[in-house]
Amino acid sequence: MYLDYNATAPLRPEALKATCDALHAVGNASSIHHHGRDAASKVDQARRQLADLLNCSPGEIVFTSGATEANNLALQAAYAERGSIITSAVEHPAVLETARALVGDTPDALFVLPVDHKGLTDPDALKATVERYGVSLVSVMLANNETGVITDLTPAIDAAHAVGALVHTDATQYAGRLPLDLGDLDVDMLSLSAHKFGGPQGIGALFIRRGTPLPQRPLVFGGGHERGWRAGTLNVPGIAGLGAAAEAARRQLDQEAPRIAKLRDLLEGELLTRIPDSYINGVAAPRLPGVTSITLPGTPADAVLASMPEVAASDGSACSAGAPSPSHVLLAMGLSREDADSTVRFSLGYATTEQEIHRAVDIAVGAVTHVRAVMGSTDSP
Ligand code: PMP
Repeated sequence: MYLDYNATAPLRPEALKATCDALHAVGNASSIHHHGRDAASKVDQARRQLADLLNCSPGEIVFTSGATEANNLALQAAYAERGSIITSAVEHPAVLETARALVGDTPDALFVLPVDHKGLTDPDALKATVERYGVSLVSVMLANNETGVITDLTPAIDAAHAVGALVHTDATQYAGRLPLDLGDLDVDMLSLSAHKFGGPQGIGALFIRRGTPLPQRPLVFGGGHERGWRAGTLNVPGIAGLGAAAEAARRQLDQEAPRIAKLRDLLEGELLTRIPDSYINGVAAPRLPGVTSITLPGTPADAVLASMPEVAASDGSACSAGAPSPSHVLLAMGLSREDADSTVRFSLGYATTEQEIHRAVDIAVGAVTHVRAVMGSTDSP
């Protein structure tokens, strides 16, 4: 049972087809002959498909290798001009580490807002910080990868724009999962990755709103692709797959989101009833439909995951490639280190079935019972 959609979602059939078709074709999107024009038209189509998902203009999209690069690009460009960054303690490392690297030995140029036990920043504290920093960059994620907690960005946008600051959001876990309308959501920049909504890995995008006062600061210099924002031959198969996934997600979102939320509620209800002392993180906040972050006190998540190889889920540190360390997100929400290390994340998506949830619950309950029994026997004198 694959319940790790926040790490990566299975490729949607539409995306697989579009990617394969593009792989079979020859042509550099910059070439003027018909092979090149063919590749360029695939890119144009994908740009329109993504713009339709986000309700923005195709010309406001820069294709990147993923959300990590999009976050780096957004933060670097804004920091070069603005000189300070305000962000939150629960951001993905692609924002937090980028911000830390950019400010370097001027740590006062970075302000990291704390979150409460629900995983939310305090709008008043945010407003006060933004007013203090003035013309800066505010980068706050739309939905958290570990808990699914959704941030209402309106206070950040209002406070930032009132003082001339820019707003960037990491929407990697939100895009393609819930409706996203950039006509309403007045952010200046937004990052996403195709593989979270059923596109291929290694392709993503940065939305930059037309007219945003931002110096062009590419990370990669070269032939001026993507209107000068990102040089290099375009990844046409990846881009075509991203476009097809965006279109499929847009068409199916209204049915998928409530169906997935129902399955998530079923999973949570069953686990909470059958696993004593367990609790859900972020449950009091608005959340993405498909995410459950469940703490199983006294039961290390790595042991639980190892005891249920049939279920693909994650512990809190799944989004980092290095040595496991306790989740900074859960610690920021006030969990003890022990509880953070005893937290499993299940994330569901478009292909998850009710049957899978029933089976996963039985297996997970068995795994927790087993680990608790083993730990109880080793703990006893
Ligand atoms: N931001 C968030 C919130 C994410 O969940 C991820 C992926 N785990 C990223 C950024 C980075 O995406 P990618 O690895 O595709 O660049």
